[in-house]
This record gives sequence, structure tokens and C-alpha cells, in this order.
Amino acid sequence: MSIFYFNPLLAAYMLLLMFFIGACMGSFVNCIQIRLSTRSGSVFGRSECPSCGHRLGVFDLLPVLSWIFLGGKCRYCKSAISPRYVIVEAVFGLVYSGLLARFGLSWLTLEYILLFTVLLAASLSDISTMTVPDWLHIAGVAVFLVFLATHSDPLIRLRDGALGAVIYGGGVLAISLIADKIYKKDTLGGADIKVFALLGLFFGPVKMLLLLILSCIIGLILALIAKAGLGKEFPFIPSITAAAYIAALCGDEVIGWYLGLFSFGH
Ligand SMILES: [Zn+2]
Repeated sequence: MSIFYFNPLLAAYMLLLMFFIGACMGSFVNCIQIRLSTRSGSVFGRSECPSCGHRLGVFDLLPVLSWIFLGGKCRYCKSAISPRYVIVEAVFGLVYSGLLARFGLSWLTLEYILLFTVLLAASLSDISTMTVPDWLHIAGVAVFLVFLATHSDPLIRLRDGALGAVIYGGGVLAISLIADKIYKKDTLGGADIKVFALLGLFFGPVKMLLLLILSCIIGLILALIAKAGLGKEFPFIPSITAAAYIAALCGDEVIGWYLGLFSFGH
């Protein structure tokens, strides 16, 4: 059900609430990711300021809001807090509320929220460590399988998904092996290939082609902006995630428009 079916005030409230839920999830994923990659202490434990070590209270940890109200500084020692936190929280919030705005109160919204949580976590991991833990890919596959029953024709979705995963996982693997031979170095990481296979599962063979093209365009633009040299490794999963988001929100419209170009006089 579209949320714009409700009155505007209620719809705005639901979008804001969804933004906040997303921002909380962003804060949580960020925190786990940093603790896992730096191996500083356990995953569960009280948060503290990395500069002064002061334990942080509830009002220091509100996603997005705390950072804005504290002016990007620690309340206790006034040292600057990395903008990474607020950027990640805001991206999660926007991704979540965008899905709610597009797909309303539906199983599909929930399925995409879980998928994009996995993809955003994989992106963060790719940016900071250039690897993605396998359990993230497995979590993505689990989301696909659990939500199969909420689709009108689960068997067709399963068939298309398997086809998409094999074609794009296998295809990208083959291309990267050939490219490795030509450039005599690793061109695409194993994590990139697994993410393509996972997305082939969700989007099927047709929409996946759009996603593949979009991710290359976005990746190229980001690499140019970041001035990544040819020799340097550049995390590709954030670009794939952005492409997947576009494909999820308006893939059907783009494909319909493209096919419409070839149907003259109808
Ligand atoms: Zn501090």
C-alpha cells in the first residue's frame, strides 16, 4: 500500500520515522564494522570517544542529530568527530525512506531494506578493508530465500534468480579472469563477483544487465572523481550498490522506456 494514500502529515511522519530507523541501523553497522576491522575490543560494549576515551551517553549517540547538535565535536574533549559516522547514517536513512516512499507498506519494502543493509555493510567493508566477509553474502542469499514466499510466483522468481546468479556471477568471473591475464594483475575482487551473483539472484537476467551497465558508469565516474590511478585498488561495491538502488527503484521504468524506443507506431 502506498504511504501517499494516507494524509500528507502521516506520510511525512512515516518517512521521517523510516529515516531515523535507517540512521540507527547505519550507526550500528558502522560501529560493528569499525570494531571488527580495528579489532579494538569486543563488538558489544559501551561506546566511547576515540580521542579522550570518555563513555558516550544516549544523547551523544543519536544518529545524525547528535553530530549536528554537537557541531561535529566530542562533548567532552571537543576533538572533531569523523564525518564518516554522520555520512553513513544519513545514507542509510535516505536509502530506507526512499524504499518506503517507492514501495509503501509492503513485503517488498522490507525485503529491499534487508538487501540494501547487506549491500551498504559490504560497501563499508570494501571501502575500509577491500574485502567483504562471506557471511554478508550468505545473509543476502538468506533474505532472497526467506522472501520468496511473499512473491506471487515464487518458482518463476527462483528460476529467474538462479539464471541471473549463474549468468552474471559466472560471466563477471570469466571476464575478470581474462582481464587478469591481459593486465597481469587482479582486476576485480572475489567479493565483487559474489555481489554480482547475489544481485543476479534478486534482479534476474534482464534487470541485471541494466544494473551491470549502471555500476560500470557509476564506478568510472567515482574513480575519476577520486582520481584513482590505474595501479591503485578502488572499492567497486559502493558503485554496484548505487546501481542496484537505481535498478530497484526505477529499473522497470528504464527498461520499459528503452524497449519503447524500438516499438515504432504502437
Ligand atoms: Zn572526546
